[in-house]
Parts: sequence; structure tokens; C-alpha cells
Amino acid sequence: MTERVDVAIVGAGAAGLAAAGALAERDLVVRIFDEYPEAGGRLLGQRYRLGRRRWDGREVASELLRSLHGRPHVFVATGVTVYEVAGDATGGFLVRTHPDHDVTARRVLVATGAGENPVPLPGWTLPGVMTVGGAQVMAVVHRVLPGRRGLIIGTGVLSFAIAAELHEAGVEWLGLVMAPESDATAHLGSVTERWDALSHLGSVAPPLLRPLVRLLRRPAFRPLLINHYPRAGVALAGTHVHLHQVATRVVGDQEVAAVELRHLDGRGQPIGPARLVPVDFVLLSGGLSPVTELLDPLGVRMTESPALGGRVPVLSSTGETSHRGLYVAGNAGGIESGAVAVAQGRLVGLHIAHSLGGSRPELASALAAAQRSLSEVRREAPFEFNPGARKEVVRVSQDSRA
Ligand SMILES: Cc1cc2nc3c(=O)[nH]c(=O)nc-3n(C[C@H](O)[C@H](O)[C@H](O)COP(=O)(O)OP(=O)(O)OC[C@H]3O[C@@H](n4cnc5c(N)ncnc54)[C@H](O)[C@@H]3O)c2cc1C
Repeated sequence: MTERVDVAIVGAGAAGLAAAGALAERDLVVRIFDEYPEAGGRLLGQRYRLGRRRWDGREVASELLRSLHGRPHVFVATGVTVYEVAGDATGGFLVRTHPDHDVTARRVLVATGAGENPVPLPGWTLPGVMTVGGAQVMAVVHRVLPGRRGLIIGTGVLSFAIAAELHEAGVEWLGLVMAPESDATAHLGSVTERWDALSHLGSVAPPLLRPLVRLLRRPAFRPLLINHYPRAGVALAGTHVHLHQVATRVVGDQEVAAVELRHLDGRGQPIGPARLVPVDFVLLSGGLSPVTELLDPLGVRMTESPALGGRVPVLSSTGETSHRGLYVAGNAGGIESGAVAVAQGRLVGLHIAHSLGGSRPELASALAAAQRSLSEVRREAPFEFNPGARKEVVRVSQDSRA
């Protein structure tokens, strides 16, 4: 017989585990499913210093898991994929999984995180080319370096964080350069749009350079900055950032051997001759998109939001989707940092407990504290993954009332 639970959570990452902790404190019967063999999600690979911020995701995951110890009603099933969430006749849900642990649930929380966007350029399928996130898992979770001498193609918070992590692990970086503009990389925006996005990341730049970084968003100053960009690049996160250089192809016969680079002019167009930089691995960084496939069969209302990483569900302030009883937390609802996903997971977990009849005064004050904590974490976050994410969260949630 299919087991009945109060809440099924899909994803044992930052948001799913934090929500489970909040539900566990209220003695609700909770099943958390994660297809990865270990709980913790992306937190498991995050350990770096960026600007003044030190972040150890594995420690955060261990703390969240500790909060579930000794809670007999909460069960974490790892190595189990949820392939469908269907509405049932009672207004609840049937959660279908592989291998078979199907459950029926009164509420479902989708906390499936984010996936990486591709950066297709000639040569990107050669062995030795992988995404920054793949390399992060290899190096930090499995303790295997992707190579000794590498180059990162694609800018953004993730490139900087993972460059810093792999540098600490012993990788020699030959630079971090811009991804090329082409039909295949149209989803990344033009080179000038990417410079503009970088201008909002001043907090991770060396203090003396921050005013210059901000000038990148002023079209009139860009040619000046790019034409006078230091030849050796700007030292950051254990590598040298070359905003004035673009990778045009990855070169190799059986495996990656070099990357072809060209200079960029102030309008973001390649100029001058190409040169080859020998490397033994290449990382691609195209940003993140929410993983939302489980929501589509239920007809959940979605909206396009570049600031939150693309197509995202419209959520109420409680984290509920347009389908009653179905909630979303963490990166599945929009790309923000690990610390935000934890705070969001706890808040949505408490709202789910409230919707299931928990109405003690203690719950009301826990909800108010969790809301304050989420606002504070967002306010104090040193950067946004995409510019404007904080404001956009508010807009998308206001949409739900339209
Ligand atoms: C490659 C990558 C690197 C990142 N690096 C950083 C970083 O360095 N710093 C930072 O602040 N943020 C980083 N992030 C953002 C990161 O996603 C958040 O920090 C935080 O971990 C998000 O928490 P989450 O719970 O929403 O998702 P996650 O931590 O990604 O957890 C989602 C979980 O859902 C599981 N899952 C997905 N679909 C299913 C399914 N159908 N069935 C069962 N299980 C499923 C996954 O296995 C995963 O464990 C990164 C994200 C990615 C994708």
C-alpha cells in the first residue's frame, strides 16, 4: 500500500532540509526525496572565501541534517528520483518515485534547485571541457582535480567562487575570459550586457577597483576601461580576470589542448589576431536556471524573470504556487545564494505547518522570526547571482495576487 505522509519534499538541498527541520519541530510526518546518494544538495560543494565572505556549505548541510536527528517522523530517502507529482482525488498529491517509494501527501514542497546553462562554442564537446559546477563537485565533493592548468570561459559569481575553490585545491589558472557571442550563446546576452551585469558585482572585486567596476555599466566609459584594461588581467579569486578577452574555440584532437583567444574592443567585438593558450582542462560558466519540470504537469502558473534565472513559478508570500497545497522554495523558485535558500526553506516549511492546522502562538512568532531572517539574509548578501534578483522576488510574489 502507498504510504501516507503529511508533507513530501523533493530535494534534500539547502531549502528542502531547512523546511524539513521546521516541519520536524511540529511533529509532522515528512518524507524527503533526493536523487543524489548524499543529502545536502549543492551545499556539499561550496567552500570558499569571496571578498570578505567565508562560506562552508558542507558545514551548513551537516547542521541542517543534525536538526533532523532524533525526529522519528522525518525520513530522508537518498538515491530516489521523484518523476511525477500528481494531484489526487482528495485534494492531496501522489508522489511517484524511482526506485519505488511512492507516497501520498497532503502537501508537497518542490525544492529541486538549479541547473547550469550551457556555453556552446566550437570544441566544447572535447574531453577535458566541463561546467564549473561539474568541476566543483569533482574537486570539493569527490576530491579529484579536473586537471592542473585550466581556463574558465564565462563570467559571474559562480565562476569567481569556483575559481577560488579550485585555486585553494591546487589548480593553476591561466585566466578567466568572456564567452563568445553567437546564436548558440544568445541566452547569455551580448558581451556588453554581461559587462553590465558584472558592474553590479563590485563587492567581490578588490576595494580599489570597485569604482571602476561600477563604471562598466556606463556605455560611455566602457571603451576607455576595456582599451586600458591591464594586459595581465585583474587578479581575483585565485585567477586573473580578462574582461577584454574572449574565447573563440577550444582546440584539441582527442582531448582539450588549448583555448583560442581574441581581444575585444569597447563594443564587445573581437579584434586583432587569435592566440592559443595551452591548457589541460577548460571550465564553462553560463549561469543557472531553476529546475521546475515537476510543476508543469500540474499547470502551475509561471513567469519569465531573467533576474531570477529564467522561467520561474509565481509564488505567494507563503511559497505556495497557483496549485493549492504545492509549494516551492530555494533555487527552484529563483536563483539566489545558499544562505537565502536555507532561510527561504525554513519560512516555507513553517507556512506549510501553518496550513496543516498548526496555529499555536509559538508558530506565529516562529513565522515572524523566519520572515525577518529571510529579509535580513537577502539584505546582507554581498552579491546577487543576477542583478535585480531581490526586487524581482517581490514583483513575482505580487504577481500571484493579480
Ligand atoms: C553548479 C552550482 C553551483 C553553485 N554554487 C554556489 C555557490 O558556490 N555559492 C552559493 O551561494 N550558491 C551556489 N549555488 C546556488 C545553490 O543552488 C544554492 O546555494 C543552494 O544550494 C540552493 O539550494 P536548493 O535547496 O534550492 O537546491 P540544491 O542545493 O541544488 O538542492 C536541490 C536538490 O534536489 C535534488 N533533486 C532535483 N530534482 C530531483 C528529483 N526530481 N527527484 C529527487 N531529487 C531531486 C538534487 O539532487 C539536489 O540535491 C550553486 C548552484 C549550482 C547549480
